[in-house]
Amino acid sequence: MNPLGLYIDFPFCIARCAFCAFNVQGYREGISERYRLALHKELAIHDLLDTCNGREVVSLYLGGGTPTLYPPHVVNEIVSSCRSGFRFHASAEITIEAHPATINSANLRGLRESGINRLSMGVQSFSDEYLTLLGRNHTAQEAVDAFNAAREAGFSNIGIDLIYGLPDLLLGEWEKTLQSTIDLDPEHISIYALSIEEGTLFHKKGVALPSEEEQVSQYQLAQKMLFDAGFQQYEISNFAREGYASVHNLLYWNRAETLGIGVSAHSYLNNEHKENTASIPLYCEQVEAGHIPTERTTQVSNEEAATDRIIFGLRKREGITNTDLHSLKKHEQTATVLIKNGLLVAEGDRICLTPRGMLLADQVATAFF
Ligand code: SF4
Repeated sequence: MNPLGLYIDFPFCIARCAFCAFNVQGYREGISERYRLALHKELAIHDLLDTCNGREVVSLYLGGGTPTLYPPHVVNEIVSSCRSGFRFHASAEITIEAHPATINSANLRGLRESGINRLSMGVQSFSDEYLTLLGRNHTAQEAVDAFNAAREAGFSNIGIDLIYGLPDLLLGEWEKTLQSTIDLDPEHISIYALSIEEGTLFHKKGVALPSEEEQVSQYQLAQKMLFDAGFQQYEISNFAREGYASVHNLLYWNRAETLGIGVSAHSYLNNEHKENTASIPLYCEQVEAGHIPTERTTQVSNEEAATDRIIFGLRKREGITNTDLHSLKKHEQTATVLIKNGLLVAEGDRICLTPRGMLLADQVATAFF
């Protein structure tokens, strides 16, 4: 039976960060309560329809948004609904995204008691100046305190997310953020390049990104510092202590099946890609009426699935197998050109990105399209 990743979306935040283009809104009592009930209802509908046909959940990811805005007993009930509607692997990874300003010893203990065994903390920077610029609503010290409180509450698998390529970010400042992160000794670190998306405050303000050369220097500095500190890079943006690569992320990159619950959630099941409606009121209405709130369904052909396996698989440090590559003739030709141009390398029966290919991963993906 195929492994399954389950994702639950909580689309509420304290306030919108200056760089964020996600489908989120401010946390308000009325709508957040209606949404909570709708999540339970959507889970019950999938249970009734047996959407997942006995597949085994190896990862549950509570993301958004800021799920930690809900009290732990609410999160606990959602996890329980998932457990009663789906078959869980005994050691399933259960992750919750946590904003440092929303966690403390008391709610962290409650979350741990819910069976959540992994915390993904969006910290983004350990510079108060940059945290203000990003509109993050917490200080660097509050992030450190939140991390320590999570350890005390029993979390032994904590990830920290950082952003590089910030406007005017000096290499020395980025080095300090990386060092502060390493000093906390998390199990997992993600580094994402800032991109300016339409509809964000950064876009409205016309904020400019640093030069490509500066972004590359920051990325390479992170690779070096994290490698020296004993982290393994297992994907373009992700580093982990041995044995702590994110199960959930790997499901996406391996194009495994996933079921998304909640507003804007995506699913990939039975060769179909589905997307739930992005409107919170419409989501609630449809679910309350007993319908799955699908807005779009796309059939994924065998050729598209093979292309996806290559594009997503190449994001991983271990790359793809020759079998994946040889599934389509045109991809073999593309790979030959990319190897010649120094963006891919053949290692035994695997093909992976070179260090330069990692920096140009989007261009590599485009080539396969
Ligand atoms: S906390 Fe995360 S999801 Fe919420 S606005 Fe900020 S970046 Fe977006």
